[in-house]
Amino acid sequence: LIELDRRHLIHPVSSYRGHEYLGVRVLKSAKGAVLTDMDGHELVDGFAGLWCVNAGYGHESIVEAAAQQMRELPYATGYFDMGSEPAIRLASELADRAPGDLDHVFFTLGGSDAVDSTVRFIRYYWHCKGQPQRDQFISIEQGYHGSSTVGAGLTALPGFHAGFGIPYSWQHKIPSHYSYRNPAGDTPEAIIQSSLAALYAKVEEIGGPERVAAFYAEPIQGSGGVLVPPKGWMKAMRDACAALDILFIADEVITGFGRTGPLFASTEDGIVPDFMTIAKGLTSGYVPMGAVLMSDRVYQVMADGAGPVAIGHGYTYSAHPVSAAVGLEVLRLYENGLLENGRRAGARLMAGLETLRDHPLVGDVRGRGMLAAIELVVNKKKKTPLPAEAAPGRRIFDRAWKSGLVIRAFANGVLGYAPPLCCTDAEIDMILDRTRKVLDATLE
Ligand code: PMP
Repeated sequence: LIELDRRHLIHPVSSYRGHEYLGVRVLKSAKGAVLTDMDGHELVDGFAGLWCVNAGYGHESIVEAAAQQMRELPYATGYFDMGSEPAIRLASELADRAPGDLDHVFFTLGGSDAVDSTVRFIRYYWHCKGQPQRDQFISIEQGYHGSSTVGAGLTALPGFHAGFGIPYSWQHKIPSHYSYRNPAGDTPEAIIQSSLAALYAKVEEIGGPERVAAFYAEPIQGSGGVLVPPKGWMKAMRDACAALDILFIADEVITGFGRTGPLFASTEDGIVPDFMTIAKGLTSGYVPMGAVLMSDRVYQVMADGAGPVAIGHGYTYSAHPVSAAVGLEVLRLYENGLLENGRRAGARLMAGLETLRDHPLVGDVRGRGMLAAIELVVNKKKKTPLPAEAAPGRRIFDRAWKSGLVIRAFANGVLGYAPPLCCTDAEIDMILDRTRKVLDATLE
């Protein structure tokens, strides 16, 4: 398998840039929060796959929901005026639970095409409003909004741009709220004020609010290294956008579905965005699905149909009945103990990671609920990053793997945690113990 993989399978990151081929890690099976590889080696999944398997692995009721739907109706297009019961019910259940008037749902295959879809809808919205010149989009450094061409452009991680001719000229960025090394200081008020100032300055640079279509933010920046904004940051940015009539998109692809505690992080942030993008935990990773939740206020403008042409946007697998059936079952699980277990396990994870602050390599500990990170440095006082040759990435990932732990080791010295919400106390403790061992081995 390792040889076939090397010859034929392209991995999004490691297959390019002349990386030394270290061999793929092939998984065989999984149950709960525990993975088993081809050699029978067991590992705790500290990252829920790619921040998605919130319910954990091997849930019979999810498998049964998918199998039952496949038997009854494996496919129904959501493109034309046709549909299926699970897709309609899931849309309705999501609208019931989403904050405010996010009442309208457009299903996609994952998070990237959900983000792409918002760009299409937003451009159309401004056409309908008679302001097509509002065609500029703003997002944030260290933000991640997908790997599709438009999503990668809104993403501000250099690897997603270099060599691809993106971002486009209509995609702009403001600095992150990253608090551990923020030039504005580390108090919440200073960070919020500097983000607001950066937003206003960027809007002016673009040509004023009448040129700006929308602003994108993650409630917690995930792939940028789990960067948690100060309390009140999302609300301040949301209110500033509302005052400028700029649409506000909360990208909850990672933070949705209990990752930070509630079903949606926006609820905790006390905001109602104009759009919300979701994926990952929506189906707990068992089958692909994402969605755009659109506010009624925006929907009514588009539905009135003053746009240039009838809107033509959708995918063969939009509103897929099997994915929707899985989504409905996963939603039932969240509300029958899974969210609650995630909150309990998240408190244990955060408390445990806090105890690592005394480790000589740990510069910062941050997170909310079951979404957390530690940032490694060689000099805590000066916050000096690890030298490139010792930085995480494949090396720490390998060390963790050998000790029976899967975590995300970002290249900049950040270790990310997003375990399944079903984790037991013992599994959280295993994640913490193994992390300490990996850090000690890194010191040597
Ligand atoms: N938005 C955010 C905030 C994400 O974290 C991700 C994926 N990590 C995406 C969008 C893209 O989702 P997908 O990989 O399902 O296309």
